[in-house]
Amino acid sequence: MGRTGGPRATAFLAALLLCASTAAGVLGIAITDSDHPTAAWWPAAGIGVLTLLLLPRSWWPGLLAGLFGTYVLANLIGDRPLDAAVLLAMADTAETAVVSWAVLNRVGRRMETVGEFGWLLGISFGGAVLAALGVAATSAQLLGGEFSDTVAATTAAHWAAVMLIVPLGLVPRERLRERLGERLGGPDHRPSPWLLVLQLALLLTATVLAFGPGHHPTLGFAPLPFLIWAGVAFGPFVVAVEQLALAVLVTALTLGGWGPFADSEQAANQVAQLYLLSLVIAGTPLALAVRQQRRATVAVWAEKKRTEAIIESSSMPILVTDEDGVMLSANPAVTELTGFRPADLIGRPFWERLMPAGEWELAQERFAEARVRGRGVIRTAAGGERIVTYSQSELIDPVDGTVHYVLTAADITAERASTHFLQHLLRSATTVAILGTDEQGVITLVNAGAERMLRIDQATGRDFLDFLDPDEVARRGAEYEAEEGFGTLVHDVAADGVPQTRDWTWVPPDGVPLRVSMTTSLVADARQRPIGYLFVARDVTDTRRNQELLHQALERERAAVGHLQALDHAKDDFVSTVSHELRTPLTSIIGSIELLGDGLLGELGPDQKHLIDVIERNAERLLALANDLLLLSAYEGAGAQPLLVPLDLRTVVTASEASIVPLLNHRDLEMQVDLPDDPVPVLGDVDYLERAVTNLLTNAVKFTQDGGSVTTTVLTDPANRRCSLSVADSGIGIPEEDLASVFQRFFRSRNVRADAIQGTGLGLSIVRSVVEAHHGSIEVHSQPGAGTTFTIHLPMA
Ligand code: ADP
Repeated sequence: MGRTGGPRATAFLAALLLCASTAAGVLGIAITDSDHPTAAWWPAAGIGVLTLLLLPRSWWPGLLAGLFGTYVLANLIGDRPLDAAVLLAMADTAETAVVSWAVLNRVGRRMETVGEFGWLLGISFGGAVLAALGVAATSAQLLGGEFSDTVAATTAAHWAAVMLIVPLGLVPRERLRERLGERLGGPDHRPSPWLLVLQLALLLTATVLAFGPGHHPTLGFAPLPFLIWAGVAFGPFVVAVEQLALAVLVTALTLGGWGPFADSEQAANQVAQLYLLSLVIAGTPLALAVRQQRRATVAVWAEKKRTEAIIESSSMPILVTDEDGVMLSANPAVTELTGFRPADLIGRPFWERLMPAGEWELAQERFAEARVRGRGVIRTAAGGERIVTYSQSELIDPVDGTVHYVLTAADITAERASTHFLQHLLRSATTVAILGTDEQGVITLVNAGAERMLRIDQATGRDFLDFLDPDEVARRGAEYEAEEGFGTLVHDVAADGVPQTRDWTWVPPDGVPLRVSMTTSLVADARQRPIGYLFVARDVTDTRRNQELLHQALERERAAVGHLQALDHAKDDFVSTVSHELRTPLTSIIGSIELLGDGLLGELGPDQKHLIDVIERNAERLLALANDLLLLSAYEGAGAQPLLVPLDLRTVVTASEASIVPLLNHRDLEMQVDLPDDPVPVLGDVDYLERAVTNLLTNAVKFTQDGGSVTTTVLTDPANRRCSLSVADSGIGIPEEDLASVFQRFFRSRNVRADAIQGTGLGLSIVRSVVEAHHGSIEVHSQPGAGTTFTIHLPMA
């Protein structure tokens, strides 16, 4: 019993027991009738076994030596010769060792069952016989005892001693009520202490009646009922204690000369031992059995409590009915599901409450057939309906054979609704393909759109990879290294869980591929473990083809524009080269003609003079054209930019007016100039600006008939820091449809061409180029037959 305390407490217990053993040995010998060579009472046998069973196994050798010592000592004190004392002690020690060892192996340190009691009874008998043989042999050899008598007496004495004392240390002592019953509020087995007092008093009375002075010989049975009472009411430990007390009392009374066994005959002693033994045999197993049965009752009760708690707290509706389907109990989950309180349900067949009236008969039939599983509709208190799966199981009471049925149900209304919704969703999406696969890529779900795009009826169960372009998959697999097959499709998604959209080529079984834009996502269960993949795809074959065509068209256009630009440059280069090359010979021609015209090489006749004039005029026109072209190509080649310096716009107008004076010879035009009094400062290049204004004035003069007027006006708008210069004439005007084109190079309006008025069509393009180089703008207003006005707008410096 190492568990009762530390090593010190254990050692103390050992010492105490060894002392008790010695005392018991001395007492046993002392109370034995001196006629008998061996002790008729030998409580030391019981104490020895108890000592070993209460103390740790490792102590046994030492304890056995100690016990051997106490036995020798007791015998020596009892005046036995040393050799006899040693031999007797050896026999006793052997018994103690054998019985302790066998009990430890068969029963253990706790005796709980009747079966274990049986083992103790058998083992102690065997031990008693073993000791008795040793004691009898010693007694016959050394003490003059009679062998067979000694065997009988010693066996009885030892057996009774072990059976009376050892149970004290082995039977369970716990109080049932406190351990189980009270905590769970279960059956109460605790006897009243007053009852124990009463029982003790009655037991004492009966014992004294049977064994005390003035006893009646036939009252020996009297204590028995009270011991049985103790066994039933107070548990095995109380019984063990009472039995031992009874034995001591009976022994004392007998030794006192009272009672039925108060006879010096050894046989009477043996009968007394056997009497006590029979009390033990009656009381202890009964107490053990009663205890076992109570434990079982409590266990059953606890089990029942547990089951009730489980049913009450279960979120699954549970109904118990009798054989006829009449409800006996319903847990809270039933109320939660149906809205019916238990009181509404109990006592009625379940279908009457929970089934629509039309289905009562069917439900009753199914119930009778004990249909164990199914799906159905149940009615709620509010008049609604729930879809449930249910199961029914039979429960037969093992005691009376009553049949009960347990009905459990699971509400699947919401699941059904969402399943329908999902199916509808899948069916109605016909332009989008939705495909689900497991982790290996086997198709588990497919919608109408996917079947339409893949042009098959049944895709479920097939490998998704079968519908993809194998070359494309292999190519992309190579990008990811190691990944191939289905792993390529889900590589990115499997890695980070983020849905990914990419173009793929699907190859339906009919072999006509289609391009799809496909979003791949990972499907995970509630615990975030991947369980498959979802693919949502759109057919983009046409879109991608159109995109490709558009791309190609744009490329072609870009190439054409580049080509045109190159041509333009080549043309500009050509024009400027030609103009440049023309100027030198033309200058030389004009110079030579002037020499001729001036008559320096001889007087010219009128015809010759006329021809020379024609030649000179045309050569000058050619030179002007060459100059215009050079100027334009200089601008447009982005080569020569004007040098912008501060100047007064009025000086530009005055200079231009002066330069056109020769044109006015032989003309009848009213020339008007309207300039502000203050300088009009602009940033500009005098030569270029003069050239532009001159061109406008030239045109005005050219396209205005005699009698008309040309008005040049400069206006300023200091607030906006802008100024304008307009040249207005009252000439032939420009047809409306030509207005937009007058600034184009070489453009000449149809009326001008019709009237055969000379010109190159370059003047206005030069004007526009100059104005734009000065960050200005030009506009034109004209009315055919009434006149034209060109207005230049420039920023003021
Ligand atoms: P050109 O005067 O050498 O023909 P321009 O570029 O100067 O070339 O003018 C282009 C055309 O614009 C002229 O041919 C003419 O048809 C028209 N145009 C220009 N100025 C006037 C104007 N003041 N009145 C009528 N038409 C004009």
